[in-house]
Amino acid sequence: MSHKPFETLDPENWEEMRTLAHRAVDDALDYLRDVRDRPVWQAVPEDVRERLQAPAPALPSPPERVYDEFVRDVLPYPMGNIHPRFWAWYMGNGTVMGALGDFLAAVMNPNLGGANHVAPLVEQQVIGWMRDMMGLPADASGLLTSGGSAANLIGLTVARNTNCGFDVRHEGVQAASGPLRFYASTEVHSCHQKAAETLGLGSAGLCKIPVHADYTIDQAALAARVAADRAAGMIPFCVVGNAGTINTGAIDDLDALADFCAREKLWFHVDGAIGAVAVLADNVRDQLKGMERADSIALDLHKWMHIPFEAGCALVRHEAAHREAFSLTPEYLARETDARGLATGALWFSDYGLQLTRQFRALKIWMSIKEHGLQRYGRMMARNVEQAHYLGRLVEAEAELELTAPIGLDIVCFRFNPGGLSAERLERLNRDILAELHEQGIAAPSYTTLGGQYCLRVAISNHRSQNEDFDLLVRAVLRLGQELRSPA
Ligand SMILES: *Cc1c(COP(=O)(O)O)cnc(C)c1O
Repeated sequence: MSHKPFETLDPENWEEMRTLAHRAVDDALDYLRDVRDRPVWQAVPEDVRERLQAPAPALPSPPERVYDEFVRDVLPYPMGNIHPRFWAWYMGNGTVMGALGDFLAAVMNPNLGGANHVAPLVEQQVIGWMRDMMGLPADASGLLTSGGSAANLIGLTVARNTNCGFDVRHEGVQAASGPLRFYASTEVHSCHQKAAETLGLGSAGLCKIPVHADYTIDQAALAARVAADRAAGMIPFCVVGNAGTINTGAIDDLDALADFCAREKLWFHVDGAIGAVAVLADNVRDQLKGMERADSIALDLHKWMHIPFEAGCALVRHEAAHREAFSLTPEYLARETDARGLATGALWFSDYGLQLTRQFRALKIWMSIKEHGLQRYGRMMARNVEQAHYLGRLVEAEAELELTAPIGLDIVCFRFNPGGLSAERLERLNRDILAELHEQGIAAPSYTTLGGQYCLRVAISNHRSQNEDFDLLVRAVLRLGQELRSPA
């Protein structure tokens, strides 16, 4: 008589799974410990790409085989942002405790839409930490999000619903007496245009204001534009201040924007995806003055706080406005406020954003911050800012290199320019230098175009970078520039 075990998705053999899990943890820790010894990036080989197009298996595989396939086909080809010489776009490295937190969150696997269990209390505590860091009042509300894009969308939705003078949620934007407008500098992140489009304003709903030479918003131009738009029958409702722009790390004069918004009765939203958390850094904090006056703030924890992706946070000064923008309670979700058991609990995060089912992303944040403490995070950020200036000095010391923008926060933009080359030739040369840096696995800056000039962009939100990594970058750029300029 054969006994088939009762079928579930649990391991058929817990001891074998335990051994495999221990192996995975050992491999993972070695992988991170030795990351510096590997190339920053390498292309995914053809045979791996082919295997990654196979259809879904209908039948089971032994867990060891699944893991071995991961080790062979996935693990060797990371994006590179865990590496000490990754400075592309604007990312974080992750933390070991954050990785454990993600694992343990998946083990508990709660749904953070709401209800009476411990996980929402953890999220509430983390949101409270962020609120206090930003200097918002104790009754401000918040929500952990997938990232800055989602956090900005939440802030802008609350702004639109609260500050346009009619019931946008019920009547829709078509009931407006004129086009709805919000304002930000030309350096604002692209997610704000996506938000404008998503919110039914059209991309024209985001009005971009010119910047000064340091890439901060021109306040006079902003004031003139708002006045002109009002005169033309438009409905200005919000200004977005940048706490660290994506191109150059510029921080708008947030205090002046707060004054302007107070005077003009505009919602003051701060996009702090890059820089808001730098209130922890002694050499940045003062530049963020005025952020604490915001009506809403979007910040990212998977960038300069190095929480494993995804982790962002939306904060709103006015809890009721935040809740009124998103709460909706059908019968099947009705709250048992006076009853007992699981469906009680005053805190339903689904009232503060678009998602109902939500992951326990708070845990990796809670564990990482408890392990390291906010002061250490502040020191890591301050060091990155110092490293940006260190790199800036290396660039300035080389006749064939030039900075292409003032250094903002931890972002350095520069290019190889030996002189005497046409603009097109110079762009081609710098593009090729960047491709070689990536393909040779040396370092991973990204690029941008400033005032029509293509340049390398080094965003140092990296807790593993050391000064010698920047020495190596500069040597490599010079060598590649000279080689590529005069092909043999
Ligand atoms: C990264 C970034 C965003 C978008 O955040 P995600 O976490 O990528 O969604 C928004 N604004 C700024 C300034 C950013 O740097």
